Amino acid sequence: MQTLSLIIEVAVPLPLDRTFHYLVDTGMSQEIAPGKRVFVPFGGRKLTAYILDIFERPDASGLKKVIEVLDDEPLWTGNELEFFRWVASYYLHPLGEVLKTALPTGINLQSANKGGNGAQVVSGGRKVRHESFYQPKESASLSIALGKKAAEIFETIREGGELPAAELRRRFGPCSQQLNRLLELGLVTREEREVYRNPFSEDPSEQDARKELNPHQASALERICTSLDKPLFAPFLLHGVTGSGKTEVYLQAIAHAINQGKNALVLVPEISLTPQLVRRFRARFGESIAILHSALSDGERYDEWRRIRRGLVRIVIGARSAVFAPLEKIGIIVVDEEHEASFKQADGLRYNARDLALVRGRMERAAVILGSATPLVTSLYAVEQGKLGLLSLPERARGIPMPTVEVVPMQGVKETISAPLQKALDETLATQGQAIIFLNRRGFSTYLLCSECGQPLTCPNCSVTLTFHRSRGQSICHYCDYAVPAPGTCPSCNALELKELGAGTEKIEHDLRQSLPQARILRMDSDTTSGKGSHNRILSRMADGTADILIGTQMITKGHDFPGVTLVGVISAEASLNLPDFRGAERTFQVLSQVIGRAGRGDLPGKVLLQALNPSHYAVQCAIAHDFQEFYRQELEFRREAGYPPFAFLAGLGFSGTTEQGVEERAESSARLLLQLKRELKVRVEVLGPAPAPLYRLRGRFRRQILLKSPSRGDLRRLLAAWISKRDKVATVRETIDIDPVDMM
Ligand code: ADP
Ligand code: ZN
Repeated sequence: MQTLSLIIEVAVPLPLDRTFHYLVDTGMSQEIAPGKRVFVPFGGRKLTAYILDIFERPDASGLKKVIEVLDDEPLWTGNELEFFRWVASYYLHPLGEVLKTALPTGINLQSANKGGNGAQVVSGGRKVRHESFYQPKESASLSIALGKKAAEIFETIREGGELPAAELRRRFGPCSQQLNRLLELGLVTREEREVYRNPFSEDPSEQDARKELNPHQASALERICTSLDKPLFAPFLLHGVTGSGKTEVYLQAIAHAINQGKNALVLVPEISLTPQLVRRFRARFGESIAILHSALSDGERYDEWRRIRRGLVRIVIGARSAVFAPLEKIGIIVVDEEHEASFKQADGLRYNARDLALVRGRMERAAVILGSATPLVTSLYAVEQGKLGLLSLPERARGIPMPTVEVVPMQGVKETISAPLQKALDETLATQGQAIIFLNRRGFSTYLLCSECGQPLTCPNCSVTLTFHRSRGQSICHYCDYAVPAPGTCPSCNALELKELGAGTEKIEHDLRQSLPQARILRMDSDTTSGKGSHNRILSRMADGTADILIGTQMITKGHDFPGVTLVGVISAEASLNLPDFRGAERTFQVLSQVIGRAGRGDLPGKVLLQALNPSHYAVQCAIAHDFQEFYRQELEFRREAGYPPFAFLAGLGFSGTTEQGVEERAESSARLLLQLKRELKVRVEVLGPAPAPLYRLRGRFRRQILLKSPSRGDLRRLLAAWISKRDKVATVRETIDIDPVDMM
């Protein structure tokens, strides 16, 4: 009888569109399983690869052998591997790179040139942390004279019963000297234990009880629970104005799923911007939550990942990458603020976590809830088509009316803060109210312009103007961080006189500090929030009333609930209307609606002043009137005429390189190949371009793009797949494929 050889199919984390086969030694056969990593020879080197499948074959000649199996337990289940295969195929992205993207960076530490020491990789990819815990000795009492700090530390340990060193350091600063002294005196004992790093920086002490739902919330919950009981794939759009109690519905729906022994996945645009949501989940569900987001250290991320994989977690909350979390038995997936562009990854595997939530939900037969006050036009269309169930919460949960909105026409007004807005700010401060001022542009002035030759200061690496940041004394490129001392001289003609044009958040702060010297002013934008925890510090000062005015970019429009805010000022209502992007109107409507919703969430009514140059645009008008239906109607009409989603599927091809000619030739030949393939395959696809990207130079690279539009997703995919297999790559030009692009820059 012929003996069969054991073969595995693996994906490698390289930009290759295929999988590979390796032979498994008999001695290793017990160890292999799909979802584990192996070390394999590849080309001239050794690589970590991911086992997809195992099979037996009579003939294994020519196959190389697996060097080592790297994991004791599979990293992924069969279901998860199936999901990743779907992702790779949909986004036309190599499966190995998809798998690598799905893993936390802490576990990906090993690389091809680390040598064959797989064992070290498995246990040492990231070490478990050990922490010292201090306990009071039972009999200990403070009869001995201690220094003040040591005495306070001792009291704290005695009150707490047991405290980790990190907590003591957090409260007292460096204190190892005092702790050693307490140990020496026999007042406390110390114990080393293995811990999972805890990404929550605050006390878990809060408690939160479920609320009695209003009738709208109750019927939304009812429909979700009905599908959870079956269970079947049930996708919903939860459309509710800001403050209508969506979060309460998520919480109770999740509680229902958990009672059935199922788990929950919650995706949010960015965790650091939504500390209140995290706090509410934590107050309701306690410790069974894992948090995955970009501000975690590699170690923290890896710890959270392991807790989830081991089934120690019932709820995972995270930004977009959490859609890949190794959570089993998913009963419900929530996508909060489903309209947010940040669910789309902008490079590498350009996935959209909102869309993938639906895919994963279908595979898991879960309920998927897409929640928003300002849903995507495409989501509302999906409701009309019967693809999403609509749950609506038309009123604010606590019965507070929507704020009144007034437009301040800005034609001919020189000041960045108009007289009516200034007056409203004065009144707000006089009545101890709080105000939010929104401007979606950071920096001091938008740019500097030479008074002599009229040239603006531009970035030498990117086709954009430099933004003047007064406090840093620099003009800075917001794309590549190129910076020059400013004001300085004009690089074109060396003139000394540079004019400041336009205003950013820094300028608003500067002006308000002059006009309202008594006000306590905070600014929140990416310049003031680079430090860990800085968001939280700013937000908690608004929440506890120790600040009067918060100035900020889009960051401030997200899910916080400040009951004290009675005034919202919008500096420039139509700032995002002129972007070269088919979603410009939609984004303007969304951001204005969100920022308007920040006013009057407490007991006092809210007021919004909207400074606008072009207040007649339907995005601005509909936001002012809180008229969703009308916006949807007009926007859908525009999309239909222009042939954009939901009436067409899009794919973007990007070409970039350091020589303009190389990029141009490459883009041209790609367009020719696409047109030729289109004729051969007889597919309905429009090939638009190549054209220079709106940002035609970025970080020193020239950029061109082709946009593909089709009424059929199948046609679009067939054309792209054919193009991928036929094209010959050029090393000097980088090519990217973006399925369902949201950013056309
Ligand atoms: P959204 O997520 O839609 O912005 P939230 O769930 O945050 O709304 O609710 C807004 C406010 O109303 C919160 O302070 C919340 O605690 C409160 N709230 C929500 N539902 C209820 C309810 N059924 N009864 C009383 N208060 C509620
Ligand atoms: Zn630049």
